[in-house]
Amino acid sequence: MQEKNKLKILFVSAEVSPFAKTGGLADVAGSLPRSLAAMRNDIRIAMPRYKTISAGMNYVADFPVKMGWRTETCIVRETATAHKSGDESLSLPVYFIDNYHYFYRDGIYGFQDDGDRFAFFCAAVLEMLPRIGFQPDIIHCNDWHTGPICMLLNEKYSRDPFYSSISTVFTIHNLQYQGLFPKDMLKLLDVGDEVFVPDKVEFYGSFNFMKAGLVYADIISTVSETYAREIQTEEYGEKLEGLLAKRREDVYGVVNGIDYDEFNPQSDARIFKNYSAETFMKKKENKYVLQREMNLPQRDVPVLGLVSRLTGQKGLNLIVDIADELFIRDIQFVLLGTGDEDYERIFKNLRIKYPDKMGVYIGFNAGLAQRIYAGSDIFLMPSRFEPCGLGQIISLRYGTIPLVRATGGLAETITDIGRDAERGNGFSFTDFSPKELLTTIDRALEIYNKNPDLWNNLVKRALGQDFSWKKSADKYMELYGLALNKKRA
Ligand code: ADP
Repeated sequence: MQEKNKLKILFVSAEVSPFAKTGGLADVAGSLPRSLAAMRNDIRIAMPRYKTISAGMNYVADFPVKMGWRTETCIVRETATAHKSGDESLSLPVYFIDNYHYFYRDGIYGFQDDGDRFAFFCAAVLEMLPRIGFQPDIIHCNDWHTGPICMLLNEKYSRDPFYSSISTVFTIHNLQYQGLFPKDMLKLLDVGDEVFVPDKVEFYGSFNFMKAGLVYADIISTVSETYAREIQTEEYGEKLEGLLAKRREDVYGVVNGIDYDEFNPQSDARIFKNYSAETFMKKKENKYVLQREMNLPQRDVPVLGLVSRLTGQKGLNLIVDIADELFIRDIQFVLLGTGDEDYERIFKNLRIKYPDKMGVYIGFNAGLAQRIYAGSDIFLMPSRFEPCGLGQIISLRYGTIPLVRATGGLAETITDIGRDAERGNGFSFTDFSPKELLTTIDRALEIYNKNPDLWNNLVKRALGQDFSWKKSADKYMELYGLALNKKRA
């Protein structure tokens, strides 16, 4: 007999891997719910149906959603992501919120009407629930796109018995993106002027979607304990530090895991040679293939890798500042990324200037990302701030040694080998300065070039680490328990 489900959870995210991804949010939304399903929760996912999503799906329902003076139609479609064990009873429904006008376009974000698009998404998610007969115990919202759900439950639906007992957890994946829109948003979301005050969603004259989550969620979490503390300070708080400090009793940090089946050097079909902690010398063959793919000379030389959104957050200006000096050294550097046009241009120019040392691919390419994780020796993440960071965790999984700035989740997951010989799993520096970055790269190269035994031990240690979801999924279960208690109280 099937065990009784523990909790009914709706997990809401603007990106879910493998359906749509621009960064780490998609990885989390694609893997955490599966771990929670394996714990016998009835967890389901809701996301927008973007044009690029072509997975086979079934029609579930359609209904009108009031958007101010207009009405838009929402069509809900469903697909199931099979649980990795193949156990059908653990397969997990994904509901796609479909509307031609808002979502049938090239791209996920960055449109002038993003406010309207995600206001529609939030309203539609809530309107969908009674129509599909799913009354969750918890709605788990993620980042600004979903903030209004927490507000609507409190301001619009609180007297409706279908909704009144639903608790909310709101997870911040990146506080920098808050979703600021004009006051008119009140009308679209069908709430009154009384919520447009500094204690609620008003933020320097705008409607702040992130704030709508932070004010109204029962429990707030973010993706590392360090970032949970950092965002209560002026340096990292993005002007919401006061609110977060006020709610500190409800703010928790849970470090992200990764899906150890999807990211597995022993079985990953996207890399050239599979390997394990026992056969890690085969990493070198992946390096040569990567060099060929990036049009670099195929040589046994330390390869530095970087896979990232190209934005100011990622500390890329430090790399640009040291580039000329860095390339005096016998190294290669491969970069995969897309984002700010300035950075795209600067790195393309570096490729032209150093064709034997720098490999650049501007764009989003999931396969190449894996080949960089597998084929590089050192993975660079000199971030200015980093809520959790997955790049360093994925690179550890592939035996590629992270070199990071000690901030947020990077500080929590990476211990410098120079500081702790027993437990060190990478290299890190604290001052956000080009000089510190270069000194740290030199420390890593010194070991790579002069002490191969120590380097190989470091690689083996990296390959043996466990950043799978199990521990963190348990912590989310605790947060759900807290949210339920809070609602009951
Ligand atoms: P963020 O969420 O800030 O973008 P993370 O380190 O948490 O940063 O997660 C980034 C995720 O996106 C990783 O899985 C990384 O491999 C992937 N990624 C980033 N840029 C690209 C790209 N251009 N092509 C393929 N994958 C990418």
